[in-house]
Amino acid sequence: MGFVIMRVHPEFASMGVSKTLEVNKDSFHTSTEKPMYRLGFGQSPFPVPEPMLEAYREAMTQTEYLPVQGYLPLREAIADHYSKRDGREVSADCVIVGPGSKELLFLLQFVAHETNVYQVGPAWVSYRAHGRLLGRPIETLATRYEDDWMLTDDTIAPLGEDPSESKVLIVNSPNNPTGKAYSGEWMEWLAGYLRNHQVTAVADEIYEHLQFRGEFHSLAKFYPEGTVISSGISKSCGAGGWRMGYMVFPPELRGVCQAMANVASETYSSAPSPVQHASVVLFRQPERFGNYWRRCRSVLRAMSEAVVKKLREKGVDCVMPDGSWYIMPRFESKRTELAKQGIHTSDDLAKYMREEWGIWTIAGTSFSSEELVVRVCLVDFDGKRAIENIPEEYNEAWFREYGGNLGRLLLGGTQVPLKM
Ligand code: PLP
Repeated sequence: MGFVIMRVHPEFASMGVSKTLEVNKDSFHTSTEKPMYRLGFGQSPFPVPEPMLEAYREAMTQTEYLPVQGYLPLREAIADHYSKRDGREVSADCVIVGPGSKELLFLLQFVAHETNVYQVGPAWVSYRAHGRLLGRPIETLATRYEDDWMLTDDTIAPLGEDPSESKVLIVNSPNNPTGKAYSGEWMEWLAGYLRNHQVTAVADEIYEHLQFRGEFHSLAKFYPEGTVISSGISKSCGAGGWRMGYMVFPPELRGVCQAMANVASETYSSAPSPVQHASVVLFRQPERFGNYWRRCRSVLRAMSEAVVKKLREKGVDCVMPDGSWYIMPRFESKRTELAKQGIHTSDDLAKYMREEWGIWTIAGTSFSSEELVVRVCLVDFDGKRAIENIPEEYNEAWFREYGGNLGRLLLGGTQVPLKM
């Protein structure tokens, strides 16, 4: 009998690796004479804060499986923290901890039944990929650059078209890829709309602590009965590789949490034990992290303001971000110039920037955007040195000394035609 090679579903064989992870891998395997600027992958440039490291060292010997829904003292700490933060009663039964929020976001779509999922575009790559994996494409409510990438009465309208439909809207603030964070007023407007149209919201708050002004507005405050919070330690504690994310549900949606735990019990069993033990400190003693977050925010704000200012000087549009390390420059004003060089789409543009200028970004198409935009991650510098050397005022000398590759790009000295 001949050897039969295992067949793979063509959809999964051909879909490729997530664009963000692929860019990261490729940027480290490409050798070139030219300088390289790794602005494609959204990994935190900052170190894990000391209280977290301390707690992790102590927890390293924790080897047992934990309850599928998460370590109870951690879930209680999360529940207490969010009860205080949002002024709504959260119970530990309504919290699930998983190996990264990406997995939980996938499980949420997985357990959804006869439900349409919507995202606000431009949107993080994986929401759409999850729908695709499940064979249930999600819908994008496309926002406009002119509206600061925020939903408006007309761009939100498709959500309200069919009142009989069960629907979920994923909203991410501060936003990957635009860096935009929504105001309290805007959240209130959105909450009113979602309540009127009976839409369940998933508020992806993974960049909460990186909002530059340190004032964060959660949709859960305005729409407590219908909002699921999704977050984790990957961005706020520079610990993407530790894999800890969580979701917080209102009592009305406890069944969704339970269904996700049922599936988790047959797939990953539990999130890693040491990181769950270590994370308790984050929710029990958040004041120990305040200084770290203030420093990270200060550096990210200085970086984004400097880069956006340069881009605007060069005639490239860019919304000023309010948080995170992302910006999304738009090259519509350069369309004619770029077309002469054969650049017509955001994929052409990202390829050109990579090949000609050594700048790694991700094309707008990966973020469900049709515009001539790319996502830029302002992370190519040594975050530890930067936060240990916060200046009174950011100036050229600081960018030269602590800005790493990003600082060099900012100060010029490359062959980039739109020299930043
Ligand atoms: N949500 C957004 C908007 C993200 O940018 C990311 C990671 O890049 C995640 C969720 C997932 O993070 P993790 O799975 O590390 O918790």
